[in-house]
Amino acid sequence: MTKEQLRDFFVSQGDKAFRGNQVYEWLWQKSAHSFEGMTNISKTTREMLENNFVINHIKVDQMQRSNDGTIKNAVRLHDDLVVESVLIPTKTRSTACVSSQVGCSLDCRFCATARLKRMRNLNPDEIYDQVVAIDNESRLYFDRPLSNIVFMGMGEPLMNYNNVLKAIDMITSSEGLGMSPRRITVSTSGVPKMIKKMADDEVKFKLAVSLHSAIDETRTSIMPFNATFSLKDLREALEYWYAKTKSRITYEYVVWKGINDTQKDADALVDFCRFAPSKVNLIEYNPIDDGEFQQANDQALNLYINTLERNGITVTVRRSRGKDIDAACGQLANKQ
Ligand code: SF4
Repeated sequence: MTKEQLRDFFVSQGDKAFRGNQVYEWLWQKSAHSFEGMTNISKTTREMLENNFVINHIKVDQMQRSNDGTIKNAVRLHDDLVVESVLIPTKTRSTACVSSQVGCSLDCRFCATARLKRMRNLNPDEIYDQVVAIDNESRLYFDRPLSNIVFMGMGEPLMNYNNVLKAIDMITSSEGLGMSPRRITVSTSGVPKMIKKMADDEVKFKLAVSLHSAIDETRTSIMPFNATFSLKDLREALEYWYAKTKSRITYEYVVWKGINDTQKDADALVDFCRFAPSKVNLIEYNPIDDGEFQQANDQALNLYINTLERNGITVTVRRSRGKDIDAACGQLANKQ
C-alpha cells in the first residue's frame, strides 16, 4: 500500500492519519517483518493490523560465500518460490546484483536462468527487500553500506518494468534507502519499446544492454528473441534513449569461441557503438553445465580491445566473481 492508502485506512478506522506514516516507516525504512515489532504503535492497533494485513517479507534461505568474498543468497518468497541475488565486493565498492523475475521469459542460450521458465514477476517490495538484505550483509561483512545496484540477476527487468520502477523509486527515496539513481544500472537484453518508454519516463538510472553480437544472424542464434526485436529496432531505441537522456549506454559483451570471435564481429560492434555514446564491458564467461559456450582465448579478447580502442571506444574487461558458488554472470539457476 502507498503511504496515502495507509493514512486513509487509519482514518477510516477512526485513528489518526499519521499512524499510516509510522507504519510506512516501519515497513520501508526499518524493514519490519512483523507488526509485533512496531514498538511505537499501541498493542491494540498492532493486533488490528495483524488481523487485517500480512507482511510478505522475503527470507534468505541459504547464503553461500565465495573464496573471492562474493555472497550469493537464495531468497525464498512468500509463495515458496526462490530467486537469487548476489553481493559483489571490491576494495572500494559493494555492488548488489538483484533479480526482477522468478525465472525468465527470454531464452538466451548461454544463460542458466533461461532454463527455468518464467513463473512470475517480482513485486516492488520483493525487489526492494533483496537490496535491503544485501545492504545488511555488506554492513555486516564489509563494514560499509551498499554502493551500487545492478539489475542483472534472474529475469529481464524491462519485462517487469512497472514493478522495477516502483522498487527503484523506493530505493532512491529518502523514505527508503536514499540511494542516488546514478548508482543503479538496469541491464536489459534489449527490448526496444521499453527502452523508449524509459527515455520518455526520464529515468535517472543508467542503462546497460547485453549485446553480445552486432550482427543480426549471430545475435539471433544466441538470443533468439532478436528475431523479433532486431538490431535495427534496438539501435533506433538506443538513439532515442540518448537523445532524450544524454546518458551514455554500456554494452555488455561476451566473446565466445567460434561464435563471435572474429575481426568481422569486432568491426560490427564498433559500427554499432557509433550510433550513440557508449562504452563496452567485455565480460568473462562462465560455462554452464554442458559447456556448449566457451570463453574465447586471450588473442580474441585482445582483438576486440585493440579494435575498440583504435576507434576511440572505452572498453573494460570484467572478470567474473563468485564462480565457485555459481554466482557469476549467466549462472543463476537455483541449483540448490
Ligand atoms: S540473460 Fe537475462 S534476459 Fe537472457 S535468459 Fe538470462 S536472465 Fe533472461
